[in-house]
Amino acid sequence: MPAISHDPAAARAFAADVALRLRGEGFETYWAGGCVRDELLGRTPADYDVATSAKPDEVRRVFGKHRTLAVGAAFGVITVLGPKPAGQVEVATFRADAPYTDGRHPAGVTFCSAREDAQRRDFTINGLFLDPVTGEVHDFVGGRDDLAAGVVRAIGVPSMRFGEDHLRMLRAIRFTAFFGFVLDPDTRAAIETMTHLVASVSPERIAAELRAMVSRTGRRQALELLRDTGLAREVLLEVAPPASSDASWNDAARIIGAFDEPDLPMAMATLAHDAGSDVLARMHKRLRLSNHEAKAAHWIRDGVVALDEAPDPRTRPWSTVQPWAAGPWAKQLADGLRARAACGFGDSGRAAWFTAQTERPRHEIDPVPLVTGDELLAAGIPPGRPIGAALAHIRSLQLDGGITTKTEAIAAAVAMAPRAE
Ligand code: ATP
Ligand code: MG
Repeated sequence: MPAISHDPAAARAFAADVALRLRGEGFETYWAGGCVRDELLGRTPADYDVATSAKPDEVRRVFGKHRTLAVGAAFGVITVLGPKPAGQVEVATFRADAPYTDGRHPAGVTFCSAREDAQRRDFTINGLFLDPVTGEVHDFVGGRDDLAAGVVRAIGVPSMRFGEDHLRMLRAIRFTAFFGFVLDPDTRAAIETMTHLVASVSPERIAAELRAMVSRTGRRQALELLRDTGLAREVLLEVAPPASSDASWNDAARIIGAFDEPDLPMAMATLAHDAGSDVLARMHKRLRLSNHEAKAAHWIRDGVVALDEAPDPRTRPWSTVQPWAAGPWAKQLADGLRARAACGFGDSGRAAWFTAQTERPRHEIDPVPLVTGDELLAAGIPPGRPIGAALAHIRSLQLDGGITTKTEAIAAAVAMAPRAE
């Protein structure tokens, strides 16, 4: 998945330099995997992986201990640190994975040839090597043809490859959708018979794949592929057909496709729009989303309901709309309302109006409150619930223009609240 972005030209130059240094020391060395795929597609790679015949300790010797990290050394991976704008490059010794025994991790690795290293990789388009000096591609797996034809195909026997590592099923969907490719029929057929195995993948890794799928190009296709292969029933079971209707899934996929700047909370809010917040809460728990993401998704879903389905916000008291326009995810909510309207749900006039509200200056949409809790305490309002209620009441009056001064605010609070003894 894409790493933190650095200066792309510096990152590329450094990755070429790393390969050249290892080559200079007599080690067979290439760029490998996703970065080769991206280069050949004319895309800027998110990061560069180098594959080499040098063993981890030899890589450390070439670049020096202080410029390398050995966290992945047990798997043959050494991180080589570049100049700041270039970031870092993972240098992996050509390796074959020992048998997978748990559907998640190989029991170990053995060092081997470039050809065998290509064969342990997941998909042919991810199994290519490139010589960054000559531009020559080394293709042991038929990846170049598949890249040209736009096919995601498992390397080797698909059911064996998915049996080794169940996460690969989700990766297959992610790459197919993101690049607008097709899933090779045998690869697809294997997934369709093995979907249940994805349940053994950790929720965090499933969530990471979903996060990447729904936030990038091809997200509608990703959701359709998840449904059509049956993977949706495993990873988004609460909202996937048959738990939910086909229509509701299709509508959500279309709306998510229409987002401008989607993220996982926006997608979750949309997928669970019809099902409700209890279902949303169950999904968050199961996928172990962060509190921040869970909160955002609930907030966005509630906001859509409040603004799209209740009476027209343009004619309601501003105090009922302001919490949404000034809230922490107002921008995402506006994008969601716009996307819904573009797909024929809700009203584009409302959506445009709401977007305009969120763009007003901060001091207008979220003015400083007229009073603080302490000031109300000093005025004799009892602590706890009465103060809370008084603050909310005053805030509504302020936002709707009924009061404009501290004195009026305190008077309004005193008028509504029981007096302290
Ligand atoms: P992205 O653009 O998402 O980073 P990527 O292809 O670079 O795509 P990474 O997860 O960064 O994906 O992995 C780098 C390479 O390692 C892949 O291209 C693939 O060759 C190999 N690889 C990664 N994960 C697996 C896996 N689960 N099984 C087999 N090979 C894998
Ligand atoms: Mg990568």
